[in-house]
Amino acid sequence: MSSTSTPATGGRSFVASLDSGRLRWDRVAPFPAEDPVQRRRADEIVERVGAFVEARIDPEEVDGTAALPDGFVEELRERGFLSLRQSAEIGGHDLSAYGAFRVVTRAVSWSAPVGQLLGVQNGVAPFELARSLPAGAVRDLLEQRITERAIGGWADTELIGQNNSRPALTGYLTEDGSAYLLRGHKTFIGNGPLAELVAVTGLAATGEGEPRIAVFFADTRQPGLTVQAHEFVGAKGLPVGALTFDNLRVPREHVLLVGEENPQAAPQTRAMGIVGRMYSTSGPALAIGRLCLQWSREFVSRRFIDGRNLGEYDLIQRIVATSLADVFATESVLQWSLIGPGLADRWFELVWSMNVSRAANWRIVDQTVSLLGGEGIETARSKRRRGAQPLPVERFFRDARLIRTIGNVDFQVDNITGRQYLARFYGPEADRIGSAATGGEDTLAFAASADLSPANLEHLGALGEETRRFAAATRQLVRRYPDPRELALHEQSLVLISRIASELYTAAVTLARASHLASDDGGASQGLADVYLTEARHRVEALWRRLAPAIAEPDHAKISRDWLAGASFDQLLTH
Ligand SMILES: Cc1cc2nc3c(=O)[nH]c(=O)nc-3n(C[C@H](O)[C@H](O)[C@H](O)COP(=O)(O)OP(=O)(O)OC[C@H]3O[C@@H](n4cnc5c(N)ncnc54)[C@H](O)[C@@H]3O)c2cc1C
Repeated sequence: MSSTSTPATGGRSFVASLDSGRLRWDRVAPFPAEDPVQRRRADEIVERVGAFVEARIDPEEVDGTAALPDGFVEELRERGFLSLRQSAEIGGHDLSAYGAFRVVTRAVSWSAPVGQLLGVQNGVAPFELARSLPAGAVRDLLEQRITERAIGGWADTELIGQNNSRPALTGYLTEDGSAYLLRGHKTFIGNGPLAELVAVTGLAATGEGEPRIAVFFADTRQPGLTVQAHEFVGAKGLPVGALTFDNLRVPREHVLLVGEENPQAAPQTRAMGIVGRMYSTSGPALAIGRLCLQWSREFVSRRFIDGRNLGEYDLIQRIVATSLADVFATESVLQWSLIGPGLADRWFELVWSMNVSRAANWRIVDQTVSLLGGEGIETARSKRRRGAQPLPVERFFRDARLIRTIGNVDFQVDNITGRQYLARFYGPEADRIGSAATGGEDTLAFAASADLSPANLEHLGALGEETRRFAAATRQLVRRYPDPRELALHEQSLVLISRIASELYTAAVTLARASHLASDDGGASQGLADVYLTEARHRVEALWRRLAPAIAEPDHAKISRDWLAGASFDQLLTH
């Protein structure tokens, strides 16, 4: 169920800039680099997973049959690929959060369902919790199952809707108080049909007082569980299931009550949760974006219109350049947010990285499908039949659509994140944030340390202005709605605040990376950053116009209510 508790911030930060209205370049740059030992370790596993998956998986067949080959998951398990982040002592590969992310992208680049499976197992499943939980029965259980290389899942979504704040599934305490019996349903659960251990969110009913929200660590080998597989528009073959619990027994010591141990609100756990969702969303987003770049080059290079190579046309050059810039910016936010310690201090930046990466990916993949004309929407099988280059654009286009829903629908993530960002102005942090100066300090004062082209220096100055404008706008919203419950009703404003914040964050981090790479790549990244910032500034301008519309807002509520009540507009259905 969606959480509304307020995450902490601190450390490497862009939120510090947004809060104060002063672009804190010193907290954005220098751009982080992966520890060389960690990087080499990840390089090796990326290589091994890539070679194994390419040898073992026919991605077209998996897509067609919506099933992974028999024995494949066991082979992943034997090779330790289901334990990417776990220590080598227990058969894992001891990868960093970013290292495991790279492995997921490599697998997706061949077969999205395989990469998604690795993403769920190494990110969404509850095993990473073992790092942050205090000593106790749940940590012991997780450590034991890690040693056994168990397959796991996290079951939160229900038929009533994932975005409800209270789950319906309930665990009833047995008379002797030794266990809970789970009754209810979960739906769309990644790895659900395979998982041996599932963290299940639900209500713990003890017979006394209001049932509390809890996480039940359920052993699926116990009686009382039935699983039905789902199939989606893409990632066909990824095991995702609907789980029905009919008195499945969970020992009392394997239950965490939210509010006591509070597993979902602890900063470490919240960071773990968002990193897991990034493996299943941003991982595929980056991998598919990179594939689109390769397909565009392959296609454009061989095509001529009226004797002129397609690559010489203005519109095509813009598509190619903006796609490259989108991939560069996506890599930038993912590296900046995932590399290094202190993930829990970058919660907002992690969430924005997730949404930015899937929005950028959708722009890229949609443009690439159009760029390839008929070949963009033709299946690889059909192309192969007629002897054409069988680029699997159509398959990955379907895979890409999925990632805007996994981990919660993209616009709803912005709605929640905008609300959570602004909630800090009402909560215990309000005085600290409110007293932070807004504006001040000429943005050019810190630009001296930025190694940027003249165009990017101009973007940096504009970013400083936008950051000032953002802090003023958030304060204005908070003043206009002294009651946060009233602000929460203005969902469009919350979405816009989150989108503007994520655009400014991405712009800052992209410039920091271009500055970092300036002396190494002969200015190539400066050009990409320039393209990205130019497009981002156009988008931000449009978002500001929406936040303070110059045109009177039409009555969306009335039109929507009338239609939903069946009261009007039925003529639109007449053929
Ligand atoms: C491949 C795949 C794997 C998945 N894996 C997992 C998993 O491992 N574990 C798990 O728990 N779930 C998983 N999910 C489920 C996924 O997280 C949910 O489908 C997603 O969060 C949306 O929830 P829902 O379908 O219940 O829609 P709902 O929450 O019912 O939302 C329906 C619509 O209402 C909108 N909405 C909701 N609340 C509001 C609001 N306050 N204001 C305005 N609009 C609102 C939503 O944006 C959406 O458009 C997976 C889904 C897929 C496709």
